[in-house]
Formats: sequence, C-alpha cells, structure tokens
Amino acid sequence: MRTAKAPKRDLAAARVHIGGAGRLGTAIALTLHAAGIRHISCNDPQTFEEEQFGCMVFSRRSDLGRPKVHVIDRFFDGRPGIIFEPLVAPNESPKARPLLEKADVIVSAANKLSARLYLERTAIALKKPVVQASVQDGRRALGGSVSVWTPSAGCACFGCLFPRPKVRFSRGEVLPPSVTSAIAAIAAQRVLDLLGGPASPAPNLTIIDLANYAMEAISVKPRPSCKICAAAVTLNRARVIVAGK
Ligand SMILES: [Zn+2]
Repeated sequence: MRTAKAPKRDLAAARVHIGGAGRLGTAIALTLHAAGIRHISCNDPQTFEEEQFGCMVFSRRSDLGRPKVHVIDRFFDGRPGIIFEPLVAPNESPKARPLLEKADVIVSAANKLSARLYLERTAIALKKPVVQASVQDGRRALGGSVSVWTPSAGCACFGCLFPRPKVRFSRGEVLPPSVTSAIAAIAAQRVLDLLGGPASPAPNLTIIDLANYAMEAISVKPRPSCKICAAAVTLNRARVIVAGK
C-alpha cells in the first residue's frame, strides 16, 4: 500500500485547468483547493439552473442565470490562497487555449464526449498530463472512471478507450451526488499524484463500482489506430482492490 508522500512540486505554484464546471468539475475544483492548489482555471459555457442547486451547495437563488464558472468564482472570491480564473466558453474555444498552455495538469469533466476528446487531443499536443473524470448514468450503474495520460509514458489516451467516438448517451441522466463526489475525489488525488513528481501513470485507468464498493486499477496500452494519440490497447490488469463485496 502506498502512503502519502511529500510532493516534489510546490502545490502553491502549480496550475490546474478544469474543462467543465458541472457536478464533477465543481467538486474537483473544491477538492484541489482544499488540498492546497492555489491556481485553478475552469471553462464552461453553461449558465446556472435550478437543478444545479444540489451540486453547487454554496450557490444562491441570485446565481440563477449566471455562468456556472462565475458561481464558482464568487464562492472562491475572498478566500485566502486561491486564484480562480473563470472562462465562459466551451472546451473548443480558442479562448481556452492560453489557460491550457499555462496549466501543469489538465482535467476534463465535460458532459460531451466530443468536448472531452478535444481536450485530450489538445493536452497531448501540448504534452500536458490530462485526467478524465467520468460518471455513469445512475439509472444503469453506480460508479465511473478516472483515466490519466502523461507524456512519454506510453499509455492509452482517453480516445483509445472510444474507438467509435459517436457514442450516444441517453438523455435525462441521473448523477447521484455521492457518486460524483467519490469520482471527483479520486480524480483530484490523481492530479495531486501527477504534481507530486514524474511517477509512472500506470495503472492509468481506474474503474469505480460503488454498487459493490469495488475499485479496479488497469494499465491500458495505446491503440495504434487511435485518432487522438495514434497509438494500441492491451489490457494488463495491474492490481485489483475490492472492498466490501
Ligand atoms: Zn489514444
């Protein structure tokens, strides 16, 4: 079992960018802030709606109609030790590019696969570590996954996992707050791991099954035909952690 180690990089000097300010992106931002990351940027084009009161527990009625990233910005405003840069724009916007270029780690929590793949492709082009946090529709499963790509690690990217990127997701998805919080906490821990030094990203895919309180860590090799990283997927089970099954 690994133990907590002193980070090799000064977390206060590290910059993290989060693509997506929904339930996952918001929870990841709050966890990274609590862990000592002082510079966080986040982009999202959407405005705050009634249904989001549950995931942004710090929000107010006056936030209705405001950009989600501004709602998070207002929460951080005045708190010591945090510089938050909000951007009202989708991942694909050229305005997001400078934030991605400045980031030490890029996190993707977008609600569209195309936006996630765009961020993955851009992170790979910039040679930046990228963490993808995903939650499954609660009507089908209680869990999700966290994948990691880092330069020169020879691991699969998020695109390798989706050989047919035109996957359709059914509408009206259910995202239980307890599940999104658990996935967000694991994603934030991976970010802290990446900032801690040049550790191997393997296993680079973590699958979380909260229905059985099980977590599986897998090393996935690149897929040669991948359109995102042009590289082969071979699953090598690295280790399995099962609790309470
Ligand atoms: Zn790939």
